[in-house]
Amino acid sequence: MTDTRPSSKREGPFWPVTAVERAAGTPLQGDLDCDAAIVGAGFTGLRAALRLAEAGAKVAVFEAGEVGHGASGRSGGQVNPMLPVPRPENLLKAVGRTYFERLAEVSLGSADELFDLVRRYQIDCQARQNGWLRVDHSRGARERARAAALEWNRFGAGFEFVDGDQVRRMTGSPVFDSATLAPRGGAVQPLSLVRGLARAAESAGARIYVRSPVTELRRVGERWAMTAGGTAGRHRVAAEKVILATNGYTDGLLAGLKQSILPLTPVQIATRPLGEEEIGPVLPGGQTISDTRRLIMYGRREPDNRIVYGGLGFRRLFAGVGGVEWLLKDVARVFPSIRPESWRFEWDGQIAVTADRVPHFHEPAPGLLAGLGYNGRGVAMSLVMGRVLAERALGAEAASLPFPVSPVRAMPFRGIQFFGHNPAMRLMRLMDSAEFRAR
Ligand SMILES: Cc1cc2nc3c(=O)[nH]c(=O)nc-3n(C[C@H](O)[C@H](O)[C@H](O)COP(=O)(O)OP(=O)(O)OC[C@H]3O[C@@H](n4cnc5c(N)ncnc54)[C@H](O)[C@@H]3O)c2cc1C
Repeated sequence: MTDTRPSSKREGPFWPVTAVERAAGTPLQGDLDCDAAIVGAGFTGLRAALRLAEAGAKVAVFEAGEVGHGASGRSGGQVNPMLPVPRPENLLKAVGRTYFERLAEVSLGSADELFDLVRRYQIDCQARQNGWLRVDHSRGARERARAAALEWNRFGAGFEFVDGDQVRRMTGSPVFDSATLAPRGGAVQPLSLVRGLARAAESAGARIYVRSPVTELRRVGERWAMTAGGTAGRHRVAAEKVILATNGYTDGLLAGLKQSILPLTPVQIATRPLGEEEIGPVLPGGQTISDTRRLIMYGRREPDNRIVYGGLGFRRLFAGVGGVEWLLKDVARVFPSIRPESWRFEWDGQIAVTADRVPHFHEPAPGLLAGLGYNGRGVAMSLVMGRVLAERALGAEAASLPFPVSPVRAMPFRGIQFFGHNPAMRLMRLMDSAEFRAR
């Protein structure tokens, strides 16, 4: 039977339980002058800070909450070396020939870039490059996934295929018959990674100001002026360059940026540490798993034998986030050995979806940069984006970057998508379930 206990009986986010100690960072205490001011202390902002500080720039990062407060400290921690565009032709259409080749290269190499970074800075975040299994929920999905994977392999993706008993052994699930394996994929403890990055950036000389939201941004002469700070007081910040790294938490700081993305809300659940009889067959090789449904599920096994499972949730009309009940029903079918009462944690966070499903790099005014829109695949790509934002701030030619510099444009039909999201999700869920049952 599915556990229908109200959400309040489960604890909140799981990652703080196994994460390394909280990162440093203090609230802003006075006015500040710097070379580069970064808004947002997630993967994007902190990767940019690390690169800039290493180049000798005076860098300050401003975060409304604590380090990792946004998606970076809440994510599924799956390191997936692929943009969420189905086929190469979709990427080509979105960015054109020149950027297609560069973006294909950096996105397919993004997992290697992440694991190299973790090794170089010795970040303690349970990093494991054991592979990512994308299981097929129907025969049609299998055909489509294989055709697309073969096309991506022409650009160096290195995808492999697994079938039958092998896929059932690797997943520990009785319901999947085939999968695509990305051997370069893997997992990290996301809160540990973001905290580790913060430490690396601080060691390189960056200053991190937590509980210090930025509430105003304007151009003054050749420089940028910001107002930042929370309960400890509001202060003036002057900077030559500003980088906005706010992704799904983007507010009205820069006119139009919030309207250029659609914020969506994945939800996740995690178990207590499970005994052998309960976890036995589930993901024995430590690969991460996701599937091909329109509303995907994704999961992973932790070193202490917990399972973390996630999918897309929805904002309830008046307050709160829904979707956990569906996850509980789904996981009971996918991993039937796990008892419903073993799910102890539930939480959510915000991602940023773009109209073309490709991350956006903006430079709306001289010295002002923004990078966002990872469409739920941001653990590895946000680190690439942070590095590239920093390189541009350090003077790299715009034409040499792997991302095209695009204008900040409102997402077409955003209002309809925003308000039509819940009924659309219901419809997609019905279609997914019908295909899943009919296999
Ligand atoms: C539940 C969930 C599961 C996910 N699972 C995966 C996964 O398994 N694999 C994967 O690849 N991707 C996953 N993602 C997506 C991935 O986590 C994000 O793409 C990535 O973390 C984005 O990083 P970021 O630094 O750009 O943004 P964030 O980490 O969201 O950071 C933005 C920060 O900006 C701050 N901010 C906003 N406005 C201001 C302001 N005015 N002043 C100061 N600070 C401000 C926010 O407080 C926030 O901390 C998941 C996301 C969620 C929410």
